[in-house]
Amino acid sequence: MTRAVSGRVGAGVLEDLHASAYDVAIVGAGIVGLAHALAAAKAGKRVVVIDRDPRANGASIRNFGFVTVTGQERGESWALAMRTRDLWAQIAPQAGIAIEQRGLIVTVRRPDAVAVIKAFLETEMGEGCRWLDGSAFRREHGQVAAPDTLGALISPHELRVESRLALPQLAAWLQSVHGVTLLTNTAVHAVEPPWIETSRGLVEAETAIVCPGDDLVSLYPDRIAAYRPQRCRLSMLRLAPPGFRLPAPLMSDLSLVRYAGYAALPQAKALRRQLDDEQAAHLANGVHLIVVQSADGSLVVGDSHHYDDQPAPFAPAEAEACILDEFHRATALTPPPVIERWVGTYPVAEGRTYFIDAPADDVRLVMVTSGTGASTAFAIAERTVADLFGSQAGAP
Ligand SMILES: Cc1cc2nc3c(=O)[nH]c(=O)nc-3n(C[C@H](O)[C@H](O)[C@H](O)COP(=O)(O)OP(=O)(O)OC[C@H]3O[C@@H](n4cnc5c(N)ncnc54)[C@H](O)[C@@H]3O)c2cc1C
Repeated sequence: MTRAVSGRVGAGVLEDLHASAYDVAIVGAGIVGLAHALAAAKAGKRVVVIDRDPRANGASIRNFGFVTVTGQERGESWALAMRTRDLWAQIAPQAGIAIEQRGLIVTVRRPDAVAVIKAFLETEMGEGCRWLDGSAFRREHGQVAAPDTLGALISPHELRVESRLALPQLAAWLQSVHGVTLLTNTAVHAVEPPWIETSRGLVEAETAIVCPGDDLVSLYPDRIAAYRPQRCRLSMLRLAPPGFRLPAPLMSDLSLVRYAGYAALPQAKALRRQLDDEQAAHLANGVHLIVVQSADGSLVVGDSHHYDDQPAPFAPAEAEACILDEFHRATALTPPPVIERWVGTYPVAEGRTYFIDAPADDVRLVMVTSGTGASTAFAIAERTVADLFGSQAGAP
């Protein structure tokens, strides 16, 4: 790569970019990029994070901010989530990020769903979780109990942050406390350490970690294509405050056939057959229920899943109706008015929740290929940094 880029770069910017040489350049300031910035900074590296947007605007601020452990795929994903949850708990108070909610309630209305939960509780993933039967659930959480609720899985493991606030807070903390440099409004066109070619000139860095979210084409398109990715579009809603505090984030029967930690259990097959009969439109729109609550009392409610190489920006009304219908079935509440709507996208790849690819010895390409980045990014980043820098990168 040539260094002769001054013709394309404003003099001030060129001076700034060349003022420092970095150990690591990270492409992407979503949660995956910021998690890598933290892991690299903790390993003593000088870090620059580069993003084309002025501030985080992708999946990382469109999500529920739900750091989910229970329900993650058994084995590696579950372990990554547990570690990431611990890191969120450490980082949040230091970075001034509020933990809005803790734990998870999966409330169910079908005997086959009860069977899935009972089987889940028998696995190693069930440790610390418990079953609450219908009458106890109605006593403790009557405000969100439907008359036909048979009971609920109660998990203590989860945390919830308000992502649209947490991402800027995390970025600011990385800059002020960990000395990370953040270059925004800067697109990366090519990565060839020690030179990173950007829309504002060259950045010098010994290594690079590319965390491009669902941008499948700008950098390393052939390597990304080898994972046969698609993109998934989700519909999200914010509902007006219902007038009470939700005891914890809420899911329902449909979640047990979507989240791999439950859906892979043999007992989930019978539940799936029943849901195919009873809630076909919900399943066709990839709808299951997550309800979380914000500091102002409003509820973030979702979601649907539609897959394509280029998801259209047009969110079907049927998906939204299915989400609100499941909200009503699970809680017996009339949904409060919708006060916000948005869609978000993330990449998916068959059989992988994420990958760390090595296009060169000094470059890693990291993509979370499932809807789990807020729940796994910090632990994935520790792995990437250990892989790139060896044992010197161990994180306490
Ligand atoms: C609606 C929705 C709900 C979700 N809910 C949850 C949840 O509750 N819990 C959970 O764990 N996960 C959830 N997820 C998934 C999670 O949000 C994602 O896995 C995660 O945000 C991905 O982070 P990222 O940093 O890879 O991507 P992004 O947040 O999309 O960030 C990628 C960044 O890279 C930048 N970029 C890309 N290419 C370049 C380039 N060449 N030059 C410069 N910049 C570049 C982009 O501008 C962007 O800022 C949800 C996702 C969605 C969409």
